[in-house]
Amino acid sequence: MIDASSFDNTTALFHTFGCKLNFAESSTIAKALASKGIRRASIGETPDIVIINTCSVTEMADKKCRQVIHRFVSKYPEALVIVTGCYAQLKSQEIAQMPGVDIVMGTDQKLAISRHIDKWLAGRPKLREVTPTKDIREFHPSCSGEDRTRYFLKIQDGCDYWCSYCTIPMARGRSRSGTIAEIVGQARKVAEEGGKEIVLTGVNIGDFGKGRPDTFFDLIRELDEVDGIERYRISSIEPNLLTDEIIDWVGGSKRFMPHFHIPLQAGSDEILKLMRRHYDTELFRHRIERIRHSIPDAFIGVDLIVGARGESEDLFQKSYDFVDSLDISRLHVFPYSERPGTRALDIDGIVTQQEKHRRTCLMLGLSERKLADFTSRFIGTVRDVLPEEPKKGKPMFGLTDNYLRVCMAPDLSLANTIVPVRLDSPIPESELINGTILK
Ligand code: SF4
Repeated sequence: MIDASSFDNTTALFHTFGCKLNFAESSTIAKALASKGIRRASIGETPDIVIINTCSVTEMADKKCRQVIHRFVSKYPEALVIVTGCYAQLKSQEIAQMPGVDIVMGTDQKLAISRHIDKWLAGRPKLREVTPTKDIREFHPSCSGEDRTRYFLKIQDGCDYWCSYCTIPMARGRSRSGTIAEIVGQARKVAEEGGKEIVLTGVNIGDFGKGRPDTFFDLIRELDEVDGIERYRISSIEPNLLTDEIIDWVGGSKRFMPHFHIPLQAGSDEILKLMRRHYDTELFRHRIERIRHSIPDAFIGVDLIVGARGESEDLFQKSYDFVDSLDISRLHVFPYSERPGTRALDIDGIVTQQEKHRRTCLMLGLSERKLADFTSRFIGTVRDVLPEEPKKGKPMFGLTDNYLRVCMAPDLSLANTIVPVRLDSPIPESELINGTILK
């Protein structure tokens, strides 16, 4: 048993599923543990603590979480096994019944793990705390940055939209956010650590400031003033909250990159209505056209769900044609997944797995064409790239301002420094571009 009075040489292994928010939160837990002397387990080392930060966005995500829990429990029978995150919030009892799991913590308790760890370690092996609360209201700031060129800064959590297919409002609670001062303070800290790029993350980030007079637009204008941060990216933002004002402002900003990620979810108004989304295809088209008008080189990623209940063959075709007609850069395609407790379960018109698979493949094919087309526009041009630290014997990778991934000859001295790169040619069978650094 670990001596909880001293954590010297105590190690923790993290396994994180899902969104950037989860990664930011795992990183915050790791930092809090490090301040107690608990370090991350190295590869091949047997950890004293295993923390599994779960996701529950689809049935498949639940399944993968269960598999990983079983795997770690049998691989590290002596470790204290803590399961947290959205799956733990929604299915706490189910996880608590799994042999070898010591502690289950809901999303609201996730960042308190380090506060209780000494008590748990001293008391093992009998504990099985199940603590999810129904009404999650507290906001816990988080920022991840270890071993990454990019930092993920959590600005908002939870969601009040209640789309018919989604369990996130149940798993993460109501929409809430940090203050502008708090978030700007974190961005300054990233700059002090030498970070160059920050991705703003949250569940529904455009809802930042809900219940207060300040807005997402106020936040990004303040962040734009932080010295040392050279790049910001706005992660997924709802189309109804990505206003023309924000788009035009990003177009004129030096630090906010020409890159948007916008969830469409369905390309027909009939399905958008069944999904209880807050916009229609006309508004979506307007947003894409506005971006192209204001920032012609912008990368535009779009999320799409296929095979939702009620999506007939005709409506799928409508969705396909709509997406095809948009000047976007890539699709993120998700087959619809039935989630317990959602209103979507009351909708008629179930699409078979086989058909969902067929539609997913068609949309992925469309995505490949969109990406190839977008990429080809920039071959032969020079763009700013932020190279990541190269691994020994491997090439160096980095992202252009407009989110194209570039492969370059390694040069350690240029890692985490923005450099001009000529984009030479797309690398077949990949989403990468060969680039040459121009010094
Ligand atoms: S906006 Fe809709 S899909 Fe996104 S988290 Fe909120 S409820 Fe879920």
